Amino acid sequence: MVKLSEGSNRIYGEAAFEVLAKAQELERQSKKIIHFEIGEPDMETPSNIAKAGIEAIKNKKTHYTPSIGINELRQAVQDEVEKTRGYRPDLDQIVIIPGLKPGIFFSMLATVNPGDEVIYQDPGYPTYGSVSSFLGAKGILIPLIEENEFRMNPDDIENRITEKTKLIIVNSPQNPTGSVMTKKELDEIAELAEEHDIFIISDEIYSKMTYESKHHTATLRDHAKERTVLLDGFSKYFAMTGWRLGFIVAPINMVKRLQDFLVSAVSCTAAFTQWAGVEALTGDQSFISEMMKRFKEKRDRIVGGLNSINGFSCLSPKGAFYAFPNIKKTNMNSQECADHLLYKAGVATLPGTAFGPYGEGYLRFSYANTLENIDLAIEKIKESFEKN
Ligand code: PMP
Repeated sequence: MVKLSEGSNRIYGEAAFEVLAKAQELERQSKKIIHFEIGEPDMETPSNIAKAGIEAIKNKKTHYTPSIGINELRQAVQDEVEKTRGYRPDLDQIVIIPGLKPGIFFSMLATVNPGDEVIYQDPGYPTYGSVSSFLGAKGILIPLIEENEFRMNPDDIENRITEKTKLIIVNSPQNPTGSVMTKKELDEIAELAEEHDIFIISDEIYSKMTYESKHHTATLRDHAKERTVLLDGFSKYFAMTGWRLGFIVAPINMVKRLQDFLVSAVSCTAAFTQWAGVEALTGDQSFISEMMKRFKEKRDRIVGGLNSINGFSCLSPKGAFYAFPNIKKTNMNSQECADHLLYKAGVATLPGTAFGPYGEGYLRFSYANTLENIDLAIEKIKESFEKN
């Protein structure tokens, strides 16, 4: 066999899709599975947005667009960032992308050299580590600890900065813990980046999905003009995971490179998806508050339920739709506990270790499911431990 590239041996996937495959195999054997493994809202794309996409296809918006996106959507993003982040970026800073993930990939390609150090949260979203490793960079993990409500501590970052540090990745609200960073913490991180001449990529895909606390951005200090990059997208809070739509706000010198990556990789984001995005940002916004009201109810139900299971304890997450219970007192490790839940209770979750070594002792529940299924899952889990 001809050898594949070295980089391709270093890139890796996501456990969520592996667990989904295992769960589906059980379903083929007629086992009933309650799903908490996949990170997507359990609601359909709002009809006004879907309609705008369909209309766009009817109106022949089915051709290439400029690689960085149509002006109408870039302008809507400009207004959106001003409204939600407290600064108005220049139009030239805005790039439309097919989902947030390519934004992570391309902005890391544009900033990281082999041998550089990249700082990110652990447990954290696996793509950051996968792309760092693909690029031949060294991942420097910032442990998120329960005692600090899983928020990244700026002092931990400061202690790990070296001459080789090139990039800090911030994700708030966070996957998998649901933690939300404070404005002060984000300002401190931005200050550190400025002091040591480091880039920041701020993954804000759950920006509109907070409960008690407000969302803040790590890009406020320089308005994404010097060293910070804002990534956000439509997947989660507009329930548009399958449409593939996101945006980047970046320093102008980086935008040129991002444009070239887009040209080389995808040409552009689907035209009709972009028109649906215009409607998402400029049309009726009531869907989001409605969805968050329901998610809050689900959060409270699942946190209460998890805390009633012997050996489990769970903080109430401040954002996103993930609960991250501590399962250390079950005397199982994360993988054993996730397998136990899947095979003995028919409940599909992810082991905390799917998000890095510091996820040991925890599980992730994506609670985008019905209240009835949440109640049923808690009952099944309790039964499975009683039988054990
Ligand atoms: N960043 C984080 C933190 C996520 O949780 C996800 C989705 N699971 C993404 C990025 C990917 O978003 P998209 O589907 O828009 O590519």
